[in-house]
Amino acid sequence: MSSLPGIEEALLQVLAHVVPLGAEEVPVAEAAGRVLAEPGTAAGDLPPFDSSAMDGFAVRAADTPGALRVVGQSAAGGPFEGALAEGEAVTISTGAVVPAGADAVVPVERATGEVTVERVERGENVRPTGGDVRAGEVVVEVGTVLRPAQLGALAAAGVPRVRVARRPRAVVLPTGSELRPPGTPLGPGEIYESNSVLLAAQLASAGAEVTVLPPVADDEDATRDALARGLESDVLVTSGGVSVGPHDLVRRLLAELGAREVFWRVAVKPGKPVAYATRGDTLVFGLPGNPVSSFVGFELFVRPALRALQGARDPGPHWLPGRLSVALRRNDHRDELVRARRSGDLLEPIVGQESHMIARSAAADALVLVPRGDGMLDEGAQVRWLQI
Ligand code: AMP
Ligand code: MG
Repeated sequence: MSSLPGIEEALLQVLAHVVPLGAEEVPVAEAAGRVLAEPGTAAGDLPPFDSSAMDGFAVRAADTPGALRVVGQSAAGGPFEGALAEGEAVTISTGAVVPAGADAVVPVERATGEVTVERVERGENVRPTGGDVRAGEVVVEVGTVLRPAQLGALAAAGVPRVRVARRPRAVVLPTGSELRPPGTPLGPGEIYESNSVLLAAQLASAGAEVTVLPPVADDEDATRDALARGLESDVLVTSGGVSVGPHDLVRRLLAELGAREVFWRVAVKPGKPVAYATRGDTLVFGLPGNPVSSFVGFELFVRPALRALQGARDPGPHWLPGRLSVALRRNDHRDELVRARRSGDLLEPIVGQESHMIARSAAADALVLVPRGDGMLDEGAQVRWLQI
């Protein structure tokens, strides 16, 4: 068992077979979650003109403090004609053009009457042209996952469309004769099929375009046909059927269909029987059927692969530092992913860590890595964890 690859080694093998997808252009407004394929550069200076940071009076700093003559007004959205002469002020609103000749803004709270202003420094409350970004400068770098802040930055810099990696086409195939859809009555020995819902949501959150195939029974022909269909996609994720039982057909049928297995089984708990294969550029993940195993296997291997397919600079997993709220026994042979609840940097394992206990897992918001080895991790021990 000690010869099985650990998480990091297995992940390296996964990523080594990733061939990044091509790019396409999309409106910035529709680019949430996509990975940038070309740098997002500013179409113009931001701000495009010297603008006021406050409601107040545009002035010449050299004239302050003092009583000034208000000669006009500069409102947001309008141009300002003319220039400020000595002893003059212009009423100005936040975001409006600072008139030529003015070099500071006195906030309205620091002015009285018509109009006596307190002292301000040159440049005070003025947002200089290009102070945020200059025309042509990079606003968002290649390989960045576009989150709301990046989308806002691109729009503010005048960018209407961006080139992003195309979405990976992913197929989910649940296998198992016992599986029935939620909402139907269960016969003896049957359970509700949950992994396709779980995996489809995970895939979508990693940027994939997801097709869920109907569950297949543990039957060779049905499974082969469905696998063949899944192999036409960029990523095929199967659940179940990768263990050593007589009904575990997935690996053998994948091989028959020309997929080359890169690894089977990783020194991880839960999810040890995970299989990884490729056919051409298609990546195939055979996740074990226990729902928590599927879930964990996805976070460790599939999500980083999807990010890498899209050219992400840092495909993850994105481990965070934290501390255990209780002592935990380490597993001799396998790195363990413990479902936990986080408060601050403290991680409290939930009760019910078995790999079928997906309902218990619903209370968790962290996957804590307990590295394999002897003995215990003490209460308060430093650990790494993934947000889930
Ligand atoms: P397997 O990996 O096929 O041996 O399945 C391991 C366990 O996971 C069994 O208890 C299965 O019933 C269960 N299981 C397999 N696939 C699913 C699924 N799609 N949804 C929920 N449970 C599943
Ligand atoms: Mg099965």
